[in-house]
Amino acid sequence: MPPSDPSCVFCRIVAGEIPSARLLESDAAVAFLDINPINHGHVLLVPREHHATLADLSDGAAAATAMLLPRLARAVMKATAAHGLNLVVNNGRAAGQTVDHGHWHLIPRFVDDAVDWPWPHVAYSGDELDRMRDRIARELDAGHDEGPSA
Ligand code: AMP
Ligand code: ZN
Repeated sequence: MPPSDPSCVFCRIVAGEIPSARLLESDAAVAFLDINPINHGHVLLVPREHHATLADLSDGAAAATAMLLPRLARAVMKATAAHGLNLVVNNGRAAGQTVDHGHWHLIPRFVDDAVDWPWPHVAYSGDELDRMRDRIARELDAGHDEGPSA
């Protein structure tokens, strides 16, 4: 049995225990309309496995879920006549995550819609960019053989 949490709203949607406007299903994932959309046509793509964030997903589960994104993006764009589309993952409260079951948002965008984008930017100074590259690269090397269990 894949990991599941009976108190998790997305696990309950995946299991069909609470209703959702389902769009697409595979062995790995389910896509449905967000009930409180940023724009109409806002879709959530949810892996069947319960993991708190995207970073907790195995490579295999992430790949099997994410492979549905291009097809979903094409359908949302066409169905809503959107001018663009944001693909967003919120990881953790500080990033705006409210449902602790990692998921992708597909948000259709329209010229002059009410969404506040782009986010503000923060410049690097001195050798900060190089040192940041080194720090993240070291973590990638250290975690190369780890990762969440497959
Ligand atoms: P996040 O803030 O990234 O965790 O996104 C959670 C999203 O789930 C929000 O956009 C909610 O509107 C959406 N959501 C919460 N409950 C439901 C539900 N029962 N059906 C559909 N979408 C939901
Ligand atoms: Zn869950």
